[in-house]
Formats: sequence, C-alpha cells, structure tokens
Amino acid sequence: MSIQLFDLTGRLALVTGSSQGIGYSLALGLGKAGARVVLNGRDAEKLADAQARLADQGVAAEVAAFDVTDHIAVQRGVDEIEANTGAIDILVNNAGIQRRAPLEDYSVETWHELMRTNLDSVFYVGQAVARHMIARKRGKIINIASLQSEAARYSIAPYTASKGAVKNLTKGMCTDWARHGLQINAIGPGYFATPLNQALIENPEFDAWLKNRTPAGRWGNVEELQGACIFLASEAASFVNGQVLYVDGGVLATL
Ligand code: NDP
Repeated sequence: MSIQLFDLTGRLALVTGSSQGIGYSLALGLGKAGARVVLNGRDAEKLADAQARLADQGVAAEVAAFDVTDHIAVQRGVDEIEANTGAIDILVNNAGIQRRAPLEDYSVETWHELMRTNLDSVFYVGQAVARHMIARKRGKIINIASLQSEAARYSIAPYTASKGAVKNLTKGMCTDWARHGLQINAIGPGYFATPLNQALIENPEFDAWLKNRTPAGRWGNVEELQGACIFLASEAASFVNGQVLYVDGGVLATL
C-alpha cells in the first residue's frame, strides 16, 4: 500500500453542480490531488467565476454548462467533454436542490423539480458517462447522497425520498456496472454550511439544534468532504463498491 494510490494525476473528473458549495469544494480537492476538472452548472457567469477561483488556487478547470435535468443536454454535454477535453475517469454526481414545505402543502410541480434534479440527473449523467467508461472498462462514479438517505426530518420528506433513492441507485449501478470495471460509491454529507442551507445557517434556533444534535457539535466545512471524495476516486478504493461513506460529524451514530 503506497500513498501514491491516492494520486489522481492524469485523471479527468466531471463534477456536476460545481459552481459553488460542495461541488466546488470537491472539484478543488480533486484538482489538488492531481486531476483535471470539468465544472458544471446552469449559469455560465457563476461557472467562469468558479473557474477563476480554482485557477487562483493552482487548479486548471474546464467548464461545461448544461442542465442535469435535461437528458438531451446531458448527453450532448458529456459527449462534447469526451470528444474535446478527454475521457472522463471520475464522475461526481453532486448537483442537487432543497425545497422545504410540510408534505401536506408540497406542490406536485416542486416534487417533480426536486426529483428531476436530485434523482433523475444521477441516472441521466451516470448512464451517459458510464457508457463511455464501460467501453474503456474503467471509471469511478461518486454520487452525493445525504444523511437524509437514512433519516427523515420535518418538512423535507421529498428530499429524504430522493436521497434514499440515490443511495439505492448507487447500489444498482454497482450491480450492473462493477462487472465492467467501474466503481460506484456515494458520499453522505451531514450538515454543511453552503448556500443550500443559508436560511438554516441564519436561523439561531436551527443552529443551536444542529450543534446539540451533532456529536461533533458544529456544522461541517465543505473542505472536510474532499478526503472522502479523493479516496473514492482513487485506486486506494479499487475494491470498494456500492457503498455510502457518511461524513456527518457523528449524527448517524446517534440514530
Ligand atoms: P448549493 O445550492 O450550494 O449548490 C448546488 C449546485 O448545483 C450549484 O452549483 C448549482 O448551480 C448546481 N445545480 C442546481 N441545479 C442544477 C441543474 N439542474 N443542473 C446543473 N447544475 C445544477 O448546494 P450544496 O453544495 O449544499 O449541495 C450539493 C449536493 O450536496 C446536493 O446534491 C445536496 O443535496 C447535497 N447535500 C448537501 C448537504 C449540505 O448540508 N449542504 C448535506 C447533504 C447532501 P446553478 O444553480 O448555477 O445551476
């Protein structure tokens, strides 16, 4: 076992939803480990800004703007990366949204928006990239699940359903694609201070509840997800398949 096993030099990584938050941090971590990265999101300006911030940190990134809920745009975007930038060795299915409301008030439109973004996208991007990986008989797919893959909380039932499905889709990808040389795993973040959680961060009651609820006693920093992602993207994880690695400051240990 050598530390070299964690080296991602020469690999190309596509991270969906990486203009900010967790996706941006994972792109930075993979880049620092040696990978070339491709940033994705829907907003070209935000992506250019993220690309410039990565360059400031010594990480070279390309940009591929497409909407992960649009399967035709996904297919086109993935094929363009493969043709013009290179073979995708690592895919991080990170793009996701949160929409809060008591379940009795949840609109059908919001349900579909959330499911398309959090779940359908993992199938769309995963399948489009996996077809290329299967032809090469190698590749790493890392799906961003959640603490909420395991436990529900008031007013986010559809999010909980979507992330539970991401966990099981990770297992299904493993059963179908491990035989072709792919490793498919997931990361389950706990509570991280990102724009997705802005309203909660600014809510003193929630902030106090979270610090009491989390054995580590604090929010996670997005940099603290990089190690798990580098590990799962690397040869150090060559026989790890179909797993969810929870990075949650110990919350699940208390359930
Ligand atoms: P943010 O809201 O901070 O970032 C979400 C990113 O996804 C943005 O770059 C956004 O860019 C992009 N995005 C959203 N919709 C689409 C779309 N349809 N197509 C392409 N890109 C899209 O969220 P986080 O960083 O907090 O969350 C990232 C992932 O981590 C999500 O899957 C989330 O569920 C998961 N997670 C987060 C936790 C947390 O505590 N923050 C905990 C557990 C899991 P743009 O809007 O410009 O397209």
